[in-house]
Amino acid sequence: MKYQQSNISENNFEQCTKCTICTVYCPMLEVNPLYPGPKQAGPDGERYRLREPMYYDEALRYCLNCKRCEMSCPSGVRIGDIITLAKIKNSKIRRAPLRDRLLAQTDMLGSMASYVAPVVNSTLSSKWFRKALDGVLSIDQRSTLPRYTGERFTTWYRKEEQAAKQKAYPRRLAYFYGCWVNYHNPDLGRAMIEVFNAVGCGLVLMDEGRCCGREKISSGMLRSAQSDAMANLEAFREAVGEGGAVKVVATSPACIYTLRESYHNILGLDVADIKERLTLATRYLYRLMERGEIRFAFRSDYHRRVAYHSACYMERLGWTLYSTSLLRHIPGVELTMLPSQCCGRAGSYALRSENYHFSEAIGGSLFEIVESMDVDYIVTDCESCREQIASHTSKRVLHPIEILAEALDLPKTRALNGVDEK
Ligand code: SF4
Ligand code: SF4
Repeated sequence: MKYQQSNISENNFEQCTKCTICTVYCPMLEVNPLYPGPKQAGPDGERYRLREPMYYDEALRYCLNCKRCEMSCPSGVRIGDIITLAKIKNSKIRRAPLRDRLLAQTDMLGSMASYVAPVVNSTLSSKWFRKALDGVLSIDQRSTLPRYTGERFTTWYRKEEQAAKQKAYPRRLAYFYGCWVNYHNPDLGRAMIEVFNAVGCGLVLMDEGRCCGREKISSGMLRSAQSDAMANLEAFREAVGEGGAVKVVATSPACIYTLRESYHNILGLDVADIKERLTLATRYLYRLMERGEIRFAFRSDYHRRVAYHSACYMERLGWTLYSTSLLRHIPGVELTMLPSQCCGRAGSYALRSENYHFSEAIGGSLFEIVESMDVDYIVTDCESCREQIASHTSKRVLHPIEILAEALDLPKTRALNGVDEK
């Protein structure tokens, strides 16, 4: 009995049929001969690790958790989760290095940096400081660190008294803006408000919204991630209300994947009651449009050539089609799809000195294609990808909601949806 118990997994590695398909799709395996690949690092290795943790291979740290292996697996094995949990349980490195713990504190870093954003931004872009950061913390000096905003999205929202304005709209949603919008790109938050308001939806913010915890999970900071996750779940339940009347929309596929899947699969939290209430902005809008509940009017003078990059987490969610269908719906947009591949960023993964060259090698062919294209913008839902593509090419990279906000004829859209000027 004891022997049997020690061979029953908490994940679904037993479903692996050893077809090896996942090994073809792993971007790390292609560029790093030290990485054992998804099959060996995931289900194969798990069989051994269950018997004896000494079989854990420290090379698993190279996994980007891009989940491309999971997407390709015909048996639905959650390979990325198996590897993430194995790293947390078995690595001899019991405590994440200071650098990883620091990079995972997105809320703390963001709230401090935004007070002195011009100073932080110029320091972070200075060569000598980056050299020192590389030497002391192993944050690669060639990587691009995101710039901080001087006015957080939440500050703007409060200053503009948006809470009262948003509550006046007939349909109300809770917006999980995430660290990226709050500390780095409040323009995307404002574009969200513009687009959603034009079709009669108000966006309210949750009082207790914290970082989704993706970075903490990938650095093995489970206790801290769990505490943030529980605060978020409580805030979601309160926002969604009795009977699940309100939905929570987000702009980041990495956040929404973490909330819907990793909270349960990695942190062991029950999200069943709330999962279907958590969605992406483009998915929500597309579904309303498809049901004829909202209508868009577009500017006749808007003409842009855009190329869409499908982020790993968008593909894992299976929701790329919602963003691209919305973009195709804009008459002035000429849309090209970029080949499906990882850009190599994976949150803060690419910033770490030991990963930088792998990350560049993974995204290299994508950057070459992007650079050779004659387009106005690259569009992608994921903030990591936007940062990575923008830093490796000369192109401007936007979120689909920013394209919608640019292309919409706002007065006409409001009129079509019976929305008064607020
Ligand atoms: S999550 Fe990505 S890097 Fe990790 S094994 Fe799967 S495909 Fe490879
Ligand atoms: S694709 Fe799935 S079933 Fe095939 S080897 Fe990989 S984990 Fe096993």
